This record gives sequence, structure tokens and C-alpha cells, in this order.
Amino acid sequence: MGKVIFDFDGTLAHRPGMWSQCMVDVLDDLSPGHGLVADDVRPHLRDGFPWHRPDQAHLHLSTPDLWWDDLTPLLRRTYQSVGVDSAVLDEAVATVRQHYCDPARYQLFPDTIEALVQLGGAGWELVVLSNHVPELPVILEGVGLAGLINEVFSSATIGFEKPHPEAYRIAAGRTSPTECFMIGDNPEADVFGAERAGLRAILVRNLHPEVNKRADKLLGAAQIVMSSS
Ligand SMILES: [Mg+2]
Repeated sequence: MGKVIFDFDGTLAHRPGMWSQCMVDVLDDLSPGHGLVADDVRPHLRDGFPWHRPDQAHLHLSTPDLWWDDLTPLLRRTYQSVGVDSAVLDEAVATVRQHYCDPARYQLFPDTIEALVQLGGAGWELVVLSNHVPELPVILEGVGLAGLINEVFSSATIGFEKPHPEAYRIAAGRTSPTECFMIGDNPEADVFGAERAGLRAILVRNLHPEVNKRADKLLGAAQIVMSSS
């Protein structure tokens, strides 16, 4: 058996509203009656995250604090652009980290556990490779996946964002890329990038006219993996 590499958000779990909603949730506590919604925040976050520059390695952001410090100008600029009161600005920016890393704000998809149990039981090594925050292993543990996943690779920690080929190489480790499956919901990051790096790939919970293998649900993707061997 080989290795199955899973994306996290949109594949194993989801966080309603992602970064935009997180930044609004922070304001709910600090600035009641702020009147902002996620759609106000979202346009300001379309650029500036490490995964918007996947061609650039960021090995210098080598600790969680350095990674978050690098993101702080974007968060601060965003809050300023939507008119957040300067009296709460510093605290709001600092609180985003704590909110975004809170496992209680993530929900597993209904078939996640079953798909992982089936694949693990069939002898596949299971890992996660996600463009995410440094605290991804804590989030994974908090949503109950730690015992089912052998290893977690967050782009924040390894210094490469999917679809940079090095990201898949690191996740594959000693396993030959041809013995790895990448499964995820993003056609470029989880399918085409993985295939360029020599892995087999399955798109899940999404549609794209040019992918070879796809499944509506994770259990369907697990079936494709298990029928391949
Ligand atoms: Mg995803």
C-alpha cells in the first residue's frame, strides 16, 4: 500500500466563512454593534496570504510567531479598510490568530471519519497536506482526527504552498510519488499540481471539466483509491 495525502479545508473539514468570517467573529466580541459582515471583509483578503504566491518558498517564516507576524500587516490593513475603530485595532488583529486556530470553529464532513477508517484499515498511510496556519496539527487533534492521520504537513511549517512541487515531495517523504494519491477539493492545488509532481490525484466535493478522477464525497474517493491496488 502507498500513501494517501489529504487536503484539509473543504476536504476533511470546513470552517464556515473561513478568514472573512473569522475576522468578523473577532469584532463581535471586541466591538459589539460593528455592523460588518464577511462580505465586507472578503474583498480585502483576495491577495496577501502565502498561498497567493505558491511559486515563492517562505522558509524564513520558520516559527509560528514569524508566520503570524508576516500576516499581521494584511490583517491590520483589512480592518482599517473596513473602518474598524483604532481603539480595538491591535487587539482585533492579535485575536484573529486565537480564533482561527480554535478547533471548535471547524466541522468535519459527515463521511470524513468513515473514509479515513476504511483507508487506514486497508493499510494505506494517511497524511494531511494543507495550505494552512502553523497550528494545523492542533486543529486536527481538536476535531478528532489525530488518531487517524499519521502525519500533518502545513504549508506554514514546511515553507512551500501547494501547488509548489516541493510541497508534495515533502508530504510523500520516502514513498514514491507514483504510490501516493492526493485527494482534495481544489483542482489546481490538489489535482493538477499533484499530477505535475508525479502523484495520482482525485478531486472531491467539487467539479472541474479536465480532471481524470473525481468523487462527490470522500467515501467515493476512498473507493477509487482502494480499487486501484
Ligand atoms: Mg481545500
